[in-house]
Amino acid sequence: MENVIILGTGIAGLTAAIYTARANLSPLLISGPEDGGQLTLTTDVENFPGFPNGIQGPELINITKSQAQRFGARFKIDIASKFTILKNNKNNKNTTGFELELLSGEKIQTKTLIISTGASARWLGLPSEQKYKGRGVTTCATCDGAFFKNKEVIVIGGGDSAMEESTFLTKFATKVTVIHRQDSFRASKIMQDKFFKNPKCAVLWNKEVNEILGDGKRVTGVKLKDTKTNQLTEFKCDGVFLAIGHIPNTSIFKNILDMDQLGYLKTDRFTKTNIPGVFAAGDVQDTRYRQAITAAGSGCQAAMEVEKYLAEQEHHG
Ligand code: NDP
Repeated sequence: MENVIILGTGIAGLTAAIYTARANLSPLLISGPEDGGQLTLTTDVENFPGFPNGIQGPELINITKSQAQRFGARFKIDIASKFTILKNNKNNKNTTGFELELLSGEKIQTKTLIISTGASARWLGLPSEQKYKGRGVTTCATCDGAFFKNKEVIVIGGGDSAMEESTFLTKFATKVTVIHRQDSFRASKIMQDKFFKNPKCAVLWNKEVNEILGDGKRVTGVKLKDTKTNQLTEFKCDGVFLAIGHIPNTSIFKNILDMDQLGYLKTDRFTKTNIPGVFAAGDVQDTRYRQAITAAGSGCQAAMEVEKYLAEQEHHG
């Protein structure tokens, strides 16, 4: 049985790995479908302490991974598909550990678990969106922006991500139009200022994308519905960037761990979930800050709580 399994290899999981590895717990990390997490999808990270000139997101993940490996953290590329609480056979009450079933079929048992599975990009849920996914429709400006050199694109959303992605996309696109369902952005003032100052950026208020239009091969435009008048119009564009938030990756814990109505795991201020021995760190439990540094901080907390929990179990043992 493992001492600790860490689900997810974003900055929260990697920080938990450094701490649990240095505590001689030999952590095992399971990558999940998005190895390295959201930082691998960004470019400049300018607010992570210790990097006065900024650092590229993927580079930050790579060096943190090496740091964890240096202390003995082990990594497995696989996806956890089932989570079971193991009970004491005698009274079926006391938890003796946990079992994770992986997509590969492998089953691994562990005394403790740190869930740092993060959150993944939200999609609109339109059939035409699936049809043109990767053929003009994308959720990652930093990954795909360069494919839209001298093209016109739209960005859907009204938060900081929509502002950041639009500004970034003006490096390539001739025009970036944000489509937002409200008549004002929820993005921070500083990000909005940057957006409105950029001559390549424009906005269409009170509009929802109803359908992605294409020629069968690539996106050619979108059908828009006015949220006030319900009027339908068409808008020509070559690319559609979704920036409408994220969904926490918690489906395998449904009906087992406490979560809010959006699926974010509920933790106390010590990263503990409602099941003793199961901790959560990073974006999977953070609806408020969602920063790389706060994710790393909660990863550290979860690791230290694991250490304490295991010491207590041994003591009562
Ligand atoms: P947010 O949840 O803040 O914003 C999502 C936006 O998408 C909202 O404007 C929302 O509209 C809209 N939206 C949601 N669902 C739909 C839908 N189905 N159809 C159309 N529009 C939809 O997500 P972000 O990713 O922008 O930001 C997440 C967090 O990350 C925030 O805390 C943000 O501050 C932070 N962040 C910080 C950055 C930085 O500081 N550099 C950069 C990027 C993000 P509505 O307003 O109507 O709800």
